[in-house]
Order: sequence, then C-alpha cells, then structure tokens
Amino acid sequence: MDLQLTNKVVIVTGASRGIGRAIATTLSAEGMRVAVVARTRAALEELAASLPTECLVVAADLREAEAPARVVAAVVERFSGIDVLVNNAGATQRGDFLSLQDADWEDGYALKFFGAMRMCRAAWPHLQGRRGSIVNIVGIGGRTGRAEFAIGGSVNAALLNLTKVLADRGTEDGVRVNAINPGSIATERLQGRIAVLARERGLGLEAAGQVMASEMGVPRFGRPEEIANAVAFLVSAKADYIHGAILDADGGATKTL
Ligand code: NAD
Repeated sequence: MDLQLTNKVVIVTGASRGIGRAIATTLSAEGMRVAVVARTRAALEELAASLPTECLVVAADLREAEAPARVVAAVVERFSGIDVLVNNAGATQRGDFLSLQDADWEDGYALKFFGAMRMCRAAWPHLQGRRGSIVNIVGIGGRTGRAEFAIGGSVNAALLNLTKVLADRGTEDGVRVNAINPGSIATERLQGRIAVLARERGLGLEAAGQVMASEMGVPRFGRPEEIANAVAFLVSAKADYIHGAILDADGGATKTL
C-alpha cells in the first residue's frame, strides 16, 4: 500500500528510544522528512545518521513551558512547514498512590500532558495550513484504572480527552487528530519491569516475561514497530476519514468498550 507520505514533514517527540524511535524510523522509511525530539542530543544524532531521509535533531526538555514553541519554530525554519505531529514523549512514575509525591504528579503531567498540549498548540497553525494530522501516543491506562498506575492513568485519560477536543476543533480547521493506546510494548522500560518481577519472584527473565504477559491477559508483548505501523497508516491519506479515533493496540488487553 502506498501511503503517499514521501517528503512530508513529521515531528516525533520522545524519539531517542523505544516506541518513538520506531515511529521515526518507520516514517522515514516511508519517505517522510523527520524532526526528532528528546533530551539527549547524542542519541538523536545516532538515530538521525541511521535514517534514509533528511532528519532534524532538536534536543529539548518538553517539560519546560517554552520548549514546544522553540521546537516547532526550529522545524518550520528547517522544513518550511509541518504535516504531522506525533506526541510520544512520556514518563510517569508508577507506585502506590499513598507514596507518590506532588513532585511525581507534577513531573508526569509536565511532560506527557502539558508537553503534548503545548506541542499541539504551537504546531496547530502549521498543520492547519497543510491539512495535517496529529497522533497522540497515550496508553491503555487511560481507559482502565489500575492501583499502581495512578499518575499515568489519569494523565492518559486527560490526553485522550484532549484528543477528542482537538478532533472537534480540527473538523473545522482541517487537522485530523487521533490517539493510539499501546498496551505493553517490549521497550527497555518494560524490560526493566520484567527484571523487577524476575527478582521478586525468583524467576528467569523469559519466564518472568511470560508470567507478566499472562497476568495482563495478553498472548504476548507488542513490538514498537507494531505501534509505528499503526501511526504510519493513521497519518496517511488512506486514513483520511479516521478522525478523533482512539485505537487500542494492546493485544486484546482492554476488555471494555
Ligand atoms: P521510553 O521511556 O522508552 O522513551 C521515552 C522517550 O521520551 C525517550 O526518547 C525519552 O528520551 C523521551 N523523553 C523522556 N523525558 C523527556 C523530556 N522531559 N523531554 C523530551 N523527551 C523526553 O518510552 P516508551 O516505552 O517508548 O513509551 C513511549 C510512549 O508510549 C510514552 O508516552 C508512554 O507512556 C507510552 N506507552 C508506552 C507503553 C509501553 O509499554 N512501552 C505502554 C503504553 C503507553
């Protein structure tokens, strides 16, 4: 299927590793020019060198209020416009509700909610000019609350609602806005959680991975590329009628509507 993405311009936040890196790699393979954003310049430079298309590296801490506007300005200066924004950067502290501190909550919201909201606000006029689109990488915790995921769950729920809000506005402005809820994707972060479970239960890593998947009610963990493929479809002209959608890419983990 030709996704007709050649030469279009995409910003991917949190692109230095994990799901964001896979998204940048997949969209570059589809011919898009890519602006990759994260805090660590060296990791982004290394990624940029591996991509087949033009890539702009923008090192930024998206928790800082002025960072998103700076990122967007740098991308517009380099590429003269933006077609697609993928808000992927996110990191929220897990843990028991009673032990999570105000600083943990503020940090989680600062990056994943306010960072994404400000990226949308700064990029919107440019996306509007090109009938562009936004994909927010959110998480199934936004639909299903779990005791150990208080911050991530509520941040994700807020971002899912913002996706609907912006889709409503985008109907008039000509900007498509969708969200993907990954389930448990086998990134370094998940490997870390598997290692903790292995230690706690005295298991090997592979066995701990199987136990974790089975306790989550999924046949296996997802791969970053599987999320990236869904992004590539959603931002393409093939998905022109998909707008305001929330796609659970979770191996069936979410049982509710
Ligand atoms: P990851 O931790 O592997 O990567 C996160 C990326 O965000 C990295 O590039 C990191 O450098 C960047 N980042 C972190 N703090 C930043 C900051 N302050 N400013 C700018 N960039 C920053 O994460 P991942 O597992 O690939 O997850 C990516 C997204 O998908 C996150 O929003 C996460 O909540 C969501 N998600 C992941 C899973 C999963 O199983 N991996 C499940 C559901 C949702």
